[in-house]
Amino acid sequence: MKSYIVGNWKMNFSVGESSVYLHKLLQRLRGSRSLEVVVAPSSIALQPLSLQTDRKKIRLAAQTANSHDFGAYTGEISCTQLRGLVDYCIIGHSERRQLFHLTDKDVRATVAAALRNQITPILCLGETAAEHTFGETHDVLRDQLLGGLSEVSTEDLSRVIIAYEPVWAISTTTGAHLAAPEEVAATIKYLRQLLTDTYGADTAEALPILYGGSVNPSNAGAYLTIPGVNGLLVGSASLIADQFLEIIEIAKRVQD
Ligand code: PEP
Repeated sequence: MKSYIVGNWKMNFSVGESSVYLHKLLQRLRGSRSLEVVVAPSSIALQPLSLQTDRKKIRLAAQTANSHDFGAYTGEISCTQLRGLVDYCIIGHSERRQLFHLTDKDVRATVAAALRNQITPILCLGETAAEHTFGETHDVLRDQLLGGLSEVSTEDLSRVIIAYEPVWAISTTTGAHLAAPEEVAATIKYLRQLLTDTYGADTAEALPILYGGSVNPSNAGAYLTIPGVNGLLVGSASLIADQFLEIIEIAKRVQD
């Protein structure tokens, strides 16, 4: 199966800086059929970067989108507007859920909006530190996963990517700490089983699941070799070209 390395730039880099950074990455990357490299710049940089990028090497993702196609939603950007600019859209990132009160209903509707606009949703799931401590991880992930996919037809499931990111392991969260690969492995196994029970083994196995949470060049290999993990969603380390490129090299080595 194809692997994915997705860099989430969050609210970093001006449009000019984003362009310079993309140029640097394009110069140093070779295209690969089996490894998709994706970056998610700030929304104002998407239009110029869509003209600049070489999609054989790097594809673009939006960091979020509104579920409506158009209308009176001041400040929002729809999947209809993103169509043609991006191949992917990150949906349900924990920062959107926590800081901007994104609900499961919004997430579900945005996944559907992305699909009807020919954009691949990267549906993010993850339990908070408190949910982790209180042993609620499985319940939370089940609701986020099955809720997020509930408007997706069986046919369209092949166009969805899942990203598991324990909120307590994301570097921007206060007190974040690394998730042990063994624990991530157990959670990925749970998610695969849930997908198998709900959609059948063939569909479940074909769904890419990425891992995210303070991934860097020193731990990327350990997460990438977890059975059932098909790539990484990288925040902080994706802002540093050498680190991001090293993670991509590690992913290539793991595939060989
Ligand atoms: C993220 O926010 O999606 C993320 C994985 O960030 P970091 O790599 O910085 O933990």
